[in-house]
Amino acid sequence: MNSENIHSDADQPCSNAPEEGAERPGHFAAMQENLRSPEDRIRMLEQKLVEQAEQLTASNLAVQQNIEALKKSKQRLREREARLNSIFNAASEGIIMIDRKGIVVTANAAVKAILGYAEEELIGGNISLLMAPDHAVKHDRYIQNHIDTGISKIIGSVREVEGLHKGGWTVPLDLSLAKFFIDGEIFFTGLLRDIRQRKLQEKENREHLEELAHVTRLSLMGEMASGIAHEVNQPLTAIVAYTEVCVSLLMSPNPDHVKLAGILAKTNQQALRAGQIIHRMRDFVRSKTTSRTSASINQVVKDCIGLCSTEIKLQNILFCLELAENLPLVYINEVQIEQVLLNLLRNAIDAMHDLPVDRPRRLVLCTQLDDRQHIEITVKDSGPGISDADRAKIMTPFYTTKKNGMGMGLSISRSLVEAHHGTIRFNSQDGNGCTFYVTLPPKELVNEF
Ligand code: ADP
Repeated sequence: MNSENIHSDADQPCSNAPEEGAERPGHFAAMQENLRSPEDRIRMLEQKLVEQAEQLTASNLAVQQNIEALKKSKQRLREREARLNSIFNAASEGIIMIDRKGIVVTANAAVKAILGYAEEELIGGNISLLMAPDHAVKHDRYIQNHIDTGISKIIGSVREVEGLHKGGWTVPLDLSLAKFFIDGEIFFTGLLRDIRQRKLQEKENREHLEELAHVTRLSLMGEMASGIAHEVNQPLTAIVAYTEVCVSLLMSPNPDHVKLAGILAKTNQQALRAGQIIHRMRDFVRSKTTSRTSASINQVVKDCIGLCSTEIKLQNILFCLELAENLPLVYINEVQIEQVLLNLLRNAIDAMHDLPVDRPRRLVLCTQLDDRQHIEITVKDSGPGISDADRAKIMTPFYTTKKNGMGMGLSISRSLVEAHHGTIRFNSQDGNGCTFYVTLPPKELVNEF
């Protein structure tokens, strides 16, 4: 029987018939085996056993090597985790991880130092526990917005927020957020930096500047005293004239009572005006308060001009006032903003003081809305302007080009304007006049800051 016969036998139909050709070599080998002697078969079996044992030993070795490699990588992971944990807990910034619903997943030791809660008190609870109520609402909205739209207002930026300490008080914080994914689920990591010290420093700086502003006000007052004396003198002169008329009317045989009453009313008005000037002067010198009220910027501008109109006239300055109508109200400390505008007006007047006689002296003061719908006040003069070299210096404290200047006016003005969430800038070309721009937000927007 040759191999082909065997082949055809194997093809006979049978209930367990293998697919064509699938078992033929095995079948053939089995038949060959049957032909071998028992010793041969034992030898072959032993040979097979040796081969299998070798295979098993090799695969056992491979498994052992795999286990070793796994152990090593597990060890490396443990070391890495220990290193990260030590960084996590040694960080002076608080680190908190939350899920998409704001549930705390983990928090480091610094969180306890900053906000009083230990990690175990936070895990599983909502992050809003650590926030002032109004911020908690905003935070939930920001996170949801980010998940819904993918647009990020808070991811990647640092914002100042107020944390809520376990003891019930608020703590100013810098908060930065990052997001990450585990198995497609979004998580957020928040980094909290305690900024109490910085805030304290800022407060001290502000108080220091206020102190300086007070000193400057006093020195400005000295310079303006003559102008104000002139202002007060005008109503006093009018009062003298009116009372003289009243006396002569009363001395006449038939005093005209109606006329008399009219003149007395005018006298009363002038006395009130003199009183207002004195009051304003007193507030200006004494005021250290930072209380704010709603005000019309045009009215504040007019009050300032009243304080330096004499100076403007004396220096033959052509003055132009362009006030936009229907401007929204501002929310300001009037005395401080008056101080800013007076300083700009005084600088403009000083700048034109030494102009040659044939050069026009023009001072333009405008109010208008800028393209952000903030109120903009411009003070423009036709003086010598500011040289390239001076441009970078004039806003810095104690820089002055005046013989009797203090160099504090502009830096104080800037801190006052910025404390009102406004801006101050200037535009000038050497020899070509100078324009200062002050912007202030309208009252309705102040709450947003
Ligand atoms: P001070 O008036 O005491 O010098 P400021 O801080 O108000 O202090 O001004 C600083 C400097 O800025 C001034 O000395 C002057 O050189 C320059 N400066 C300010 N305003 C003008 C202006 N309108 N034109 C030219 N220079 C100006």
